[in-house]
Amino acid sequence: MERTFIILKPDALENKHVGHILTKIEENGFRIVGLKLVQMTKYDAQKFYEVHKERPFYEDLCNYMSSGPVIVGVLEAENAVQKWRDLIGATDPKEAKEGTIRKLYAQSKEANAVHGSDSEENAIKEIHYFFSERELLP
Ligand code: UDP
Ligand code: MG
Repeated sequence: MERTFIILKPDALENKHVGHILTKIEENGFRIVGLKLVQMTKYDAQKFYEVHKERPFYEDLCNYMSSGPVIVGVLEAENAVQKWRDLIGATDPKEAKEGTIRKLYAQSKEANAVHGSDSEENAIKEIHYFFSERELLP
């Protein structure tokens, strides 16, 4: 079984889409092995998105991700990383397929409702950034 790391971003909480998104997670057969509410500091966001530090959207993105509470989580499924990426859809909701979480719930390319790890290696790093071993189900 593979694990992936997810974030319900500030817009998802602000717009009260948490219940809908958790329903999608359950309907699609993921096992939730970790879930918690977090207020990221700007520093947390800068570290988390460090791979994007040279990109023009980095500063705005870090301000955005620390602008309100988020929910971080760990999902388990066969092929969890790709399965979650398929369910959330393209980064820009205008390009996301019908029925995907970003198509349904994102506000913009930046405020796009959810995060998902892009590889198993990054999933492991991202999980460790937010969760200790004792916070996760075995
Ligand atoms: N982002 C943005 N503008 C862009 C590209 C990305 O604001 O032109 C934000 C958006 O919130 C995205 C995050 O930066 O989810 C990380 O970008 P990435 O390319 O990794 O997209 P993702 O993997 O989240 O689809
Ligand atoms: Mg990414």
